[in-house]
Amino acid sequence: MIIQLNSTISSTAKMALNEKLAQYGYSHNEVTTQFGNYIIGVGKKSFDIREIGRMEGIKDIHRVSDAYKLVSKKWKVEDTQIDFGDFKIGTGHFSIMAGPCSIESEEQIISAIEHLKANNIRIMRGGVYKPRSSPYSFRGLGMDGLKMFSSLCKENDIKIITEVMMVEQIDEMINYIDIFQVGARNSQNFNLLDALGEVDKPVLLKRGISGTIDELLQGAEYIFSHGNEKIMLCERGIRSYEMAYRNTMDINAIAMLKEKTHLPVIADPSHGIGLRKFVEPIALASIMGGADGVIMEVHHVPEKAFSDGQQTLNYQEAARTYDRMRKTFELRESF
Ligand code: PEP
Ligand code: MN
Repeated sequence: MIIQLNSTISSTAKMALNEKLAQYGYSHNEVTTQFGNYIIGVGKKSFDIREIGRMEGIKDIHRVSDAYKLVSKKWKVEDTQIDFGDFKIGTGHFSIMAGPCSIESEEQIISAIEHLKANNIRIMRGGVYKPRSSPYSFRGLGMDGLKMFSSLCKENDIKIITEVMMVEQIDEMINYIDIFQVGARNSQNFNLLDALGEVDKPVLLKRGISGTIDELLQGAEYIFSHGNEKIMLCERGIRSYEMAYRNTMDINAIAMLKEKTHLPVIADPSHGIGLRKFVEPIALASIMGGADGVIMEVHHVPEKAFSDGQQTLNYQEAARTYDRMRKTFELRESF
């Protein structure tokens, strides 16, 4: 169960609450985020929750039977919106994040920013720490690349999403990014998720390569329960027996996640199928499946990209896709 506390709750009232929970054999876990104070009670015994609801200092109480609690839709009336001041990500808004797989050079960043601005896109993606299957592949420009990426984006009022791979990178990256991306390979790196719960920056958590929906939600629960409510989930394809494409984009998961959680759900059709030709149809299908946004790879010359060129669109192809994605979103919202 989730017990929402009033911010003014006294320590005596808190103690009384903890005693009550202990009496029913419930563990109590206190969570303080940028938006609220909660006690998560985990136990089996059923009792009348109004007994707790009418205690001093309690704002609200909800029974949540899911293994994950705070990210569940069962207690939160309104879906989570990530607020960037002049735009939002979440239910009712359609967001596009686009850019290269890897940050490569100043020239590349400048051309991508120009492309994004021409297409009214507010968030640029680009990795500076790259998890690569082979240790001999390009592994990113690191902090030098991020500093260049950040100063060019700030000048142009573009937000940055980039991957963080280790706990130690969070502090050095935090002033240069707007959204931390947790990649598929780190989806269950619980130390990293704990640490991202301690910061006040949005986190986009990707589904693990063989991760289940439940594991993704439990991963998000780590971030929330450590204090950060600004979380987005990302379906980026899973490994299946099918070898005809890089991954199997699980559009089912998008529909299912929108049912199970109040968090925004973002589709990554680039990694989801891994083939340029099919990025657009899979993006459109993801939107019909309920996605609140799409993150995709674009590059001025995809054939020359340092990584993931085979799934990257050029600017002309991308512009057509943005237009069709926006139309698809409008269509879905009109149903
Ligand atoms: C990426 O976004 O370039 C990336 C490495 O993604 P994933 O973690 O989904 O493989
Ligand atoms: Mn990539």
